[in-house]
Amino acid sequence: MSTTDRRSIGDILISVVIPCYNEEDVLEELYRRVEEAAAGWGADFEVLTVDDGSTDATWDILSGFASRNSRWKALRLSRNFGHQTALWAGLCNAEGGVVAVLDADLQDPPEVVPKLLEKWSEGFDTVYAIRTKRKEGPLKKAAYLAYYRVLACMSEVDIPLDTGDFCVMDRRVVDALTSISEPDPFIRGLRAWLGFKQIGVAYERHQRAAGEVKYTFAKLIRLGMNGIISFSTRPLRLATYFGFFVSLLAFLGAVFTLVQRVFASSFVALGLAPAPGFATIVIAILFLGGVQLVCLGILGEYVARVYESVKGRPQYVLSETRGMQPTRVLDIDTNQKNVA
Ligand code: UDP
Ligand code: MG
Repeated sequence: MSTTDRRSIGDILISVVIPCYNEEDVLEELYRRVEEAAAGWGADFEVLTVDDGSTDATWDILSGFASRNSRWKALRLSRNFGHQTALWAGLCNAEGGVVAVLDADLQDPPEVVPKLLEKWSEGFDTVYAIRTKRKEGPLKKAAYLAYYRVLACMSEVDIPLDTGDFCVMDRRVVDALTSISEPDPFIRGLRAWLGFKQIGVAYERHQRAAGEVKYTFAKLIRLGMNGIISFSTRPLRLATYFGFFVSLLAFLGAVFTLVQRVFASSFVALGLAPAPGFATIVIAILFLGGVQLVCLGILGEYVARVYESVKGRPQYVLSETRGMQPTRVLDIDTNQKNVA
């Protein structure tokens, strides 16, 4: 790309979207670090914080930022909807020509954003950050490593390995993304599915700056399942293949038992006399029962998603805003207090 084709950062507003859930310990440092880093971006910026139904002082602190500094805006969801939905709410209300997505705990350092913006200037629409070193426990690291590889095998979309939500996106990507209506969006997957010009930039992921991790084990499992189920029907096919395989084994077992009965005397000579076989029967029944339940469970996951979509509920509900008016529907209007 020639220099004349470069997009100019100076001409645009950069929105920084940050979902926060019980992050009172880290918010002051977040404010300081984002303000310091953004001063060097050479562009106008707004910071859109989303309180995902926190039960600590998060909302009071975020409201304080909004009254202290007109660049800081705060959205409050009516309850804890989960990280992906909180992020979605932020994306729906961001007004910038470029939108950057960060975690509140500073694991996605605001100081890395210029590296991502540089690629946007070169003409890339989505610039996602790739985690090179993770400063997390060995078990969590191994689980993430395995998960992203399983996801890559299962998914019908090429979701880049070892990427989270940390990225910058051009306005047209954000518009396309927020026009998709999925009850439980898996944003890094949808971002990949959308296409446009995408590129990854490596960065080192540090430990959270303060506070405890807010993704509980159950929330992580849900996110992981969602990633696979939303982007692949392969588990359904796997269930079918597995069913065929087990049926084949059962058929071979039946043939063997029949032959053993008919030619009992030869089998006795071989030391394989037909035995009452209680254990064999119990194992076979339990095994087949287990396989059937797994397959039913997989089917259930897909049916649940169809059910969620058919209900057509809004993805999130807003209860309050500070420093801004919500730009999209699906929100409780701050003045009228009803669902728009
Ligand atoms: N988060 C959220 N809602 C939740 C859980 C987490 O908005 O229900 C936010 C949290 O405040 C943080 C980000 O999601 O900004 C990532 O969470 P965390 O650092 O706990 O998880 P990690 O990705 O580091 O495992
Ligand atoms: Mg974190």
